[in-house]
Amino acid sequence: MNTLTLPTFDDVLAAAARIEGYAHKTPVFTSKTVNEELGAEVFFKCENLQRMGAFKFRGAFNALSRFDEHQRRAGVVAFSSGNHAQAIALAAKLLGMPATIIMPHDAPVAKVAATKGYGGNVVIYDRYTEDREQIGRELAGKHGLTLIPPYDHPDVIAGQGTAAKELFEETGPLDALFAPLGGGGLISGSALATRALSPDCAVYAVEPEAGNDGQQSFRSGSIVHIETPKTIADGAQTQHLGNYTFPIIRRDVTDVLTASDAELIDCMRFFASRMKLIVEPTGCLGFAAARQMKASLKGKRVGIILSGGNVDLDRFSELMLQH
Ligand SMILES: *Cc1c(COP(=O)(O)O)cnc(C)c1O
Repeated sequence: MNTLTLPTFDDVLAAAARIEGYAHKTPVFTSKTVNEELGAEVFFKCENLQRMGAFKFRGAFNALSRFDEHQRRAGVVAFSSGNHAQAIALAAKLLGMPATIIMPHDAPVAKVAATKGYGGNVVIYDRYTEDREQIGRELAGKHGLTLIPPYDHPDVIAGQGTAAKELFEETGPLDALFAPLGGGGLISGSALATRALSPDCAVYAVEPEAGNDGQQSFRSGSIVHIETPKTIADGAQTQHLGNYTFPIIRRDVTDVLTASDAELIDCMRFFASRMKLIVEPTGCLGFAAARQMKASLKGKRVGIILSGGNVDLDRFSELMLQH
């Protein structure tokens, strides 16, 4: 494990060059209402408006564009609760290679449909009884496919870091950055960009309260494994951090915070009604934590990554009625 070569900000820069012209440079939105609520200057990096609806396109496209001729011909295999699946399927389509996607039985309908729509070959497994990593490795072995994991891969981390890089290039240095935490690809890439472009900025990783393995790992110093957490934040239902993401998080992240499902629903309602933005539950984690920290953010310049917007409208309506 000590021999892992962690990605650096140079890898984020290389990723930015590879995705240029393929990924959107997503807009940064501000809201007077939010600034008044928090007493801070807040910048939302809108990855809910990224291609396929989430930042994951960045990491997927970066990883796939590094395949050699042989790997391209056999294609890619990925396991994902949704957004990584769509990202890999779309990136593979753009790069002209086949994609096999392993998805949980309870993945949101819209995400399964979108993955198929991008031409991905979808294989379904039971999230609570089967090991998706083993299924992925078997398929990879049998058909010579290259497995690209959703977060624990240097090229994925470097690609995800391009969102924060774009944010800092637009806003200049910030005092605090909030981003969701699942397996840690987004936050570790964001932390690499932060340490290079805004070194004094605090970096907060935010995970669902129901599954705070990241917080436990951060505080204890070793990777904690948990059961699949039951939360509406389906993009962050991970069981553990990765071997690449954990050391970067320990080194470069300031703290790991949590938010409840009820807080996420409040944020979704706010984004839809006040900012005309559809943000999926997981995408709201950063803002939910910033609201909790309101007292210490007074007068500060704050970046928040809205990581994705993929929630079907039926589900969206159901969540709005719950609370
Ligand atoms: C995957 C995902 C996350 C979590 O990202 P990690 O790199 O696994 O930490 C957060 N938000 C959305 C919308 C996602 O799809």
